Amino acid sequence: MMNKPPKRPAAAIGQVTLVGAGPGDPDLLTLKAVKAIAAATVILVDDLVNETVLAHASPSARIVYVGKRGGCASTPQAFIEKLMVSEAHKGENVVRLKGGDPLVFGRSGEEIEALQQAGIQVHVVNGITAALGALASLNTALTHRDHAHGVLMVTGHAKPGDPGTDWRALAHTARQTKLTLVVYMGVAAAQRIQDELLHGLAADTPVAIVQDATLPSQRQALCTLDCLHQTLTEERMASPCVLLIGDVLRGLARLGQVQEAVLARGQM
Ligand code: SAH
Repeated sequence: MMNKPPKRPAAAIGQVTLVGAGPGDPDLLTLKAVKAIAAATVILVDDLVNETVLAHASPSARIVYVGKRGGCASTPQAFIEKLMVSEAHKGENVVRLKGGDPLVFGRSGEEIEALQQAGIQVHVVNGITAALGALASLNTALTHRDHAHGVLMVTGHAKPGDPGTDWRALAHTARQTKLTLVVYMGVAAAQRIQDELLHGLAADTPVAIVQDATLPSQRQALCTLDCLHQTLTEERMASPCVLLIGDVLRGLARLGQVQEAVLARGQM
């Protein structure tokens, strides 16, 4: 029996662009993102996107909110992928608008795979990731020739069933190789992250917690690693927060703005 020829993918008439909306401040959109949003006929919006960026959209664009926060009711990922595929097959110019940069903890890897398998053209437009927005607001570098030779971006929220990050191993590596740790989605697991990291990092390692980075509602606190969870609780800080951990933040502490705890909100 002859093998059937493989099915040709359906003609890719439409396209999908994964666009980073940045951490919050709408002025941090790239020009390329503005152009992509303006050209879109369908826009699928994640929940950490500042909706004011939709001012760049065409009035005729169809806007679909597909937000999904950890632990909250959400649009299933499979549904979002199907929607992107079906809209692109109809010939729509689809923009998938994501907070920060689409390539950082945005599930873009899965989406790119699904779209390519369906024969759809995919483009990616970078955005400013939350940690970089947060660091800029603190006037602090991510690396430093004396304190931080590199950076490790890590999530505090693993997929169900996945044991997630080995924080102890990470702490040892961070100390030995002088790395700044940048933790996304770390609020819920903060106590465990703190306890485990203390196996390899000093108790007085500086930590900056930045909530709502780059937005008017931004709040930040600086503390030491042994007070991370306590500071989050006392200051009632909540997601979305980035945790920035490492000696590169010592400069902030030296400025004397901090000591035990908390910096004046929004006016560091
Ligand atoms: N792609 C995004 C990250 C998505 S994961 C990016 O590049 O920024 C969602 C996590 O990002 C949140 O739990 C939080 O840790 C972080 N985050 C997103 N926006 C933020 C903001 N404005 N301030 C602080 N953290 C933010």
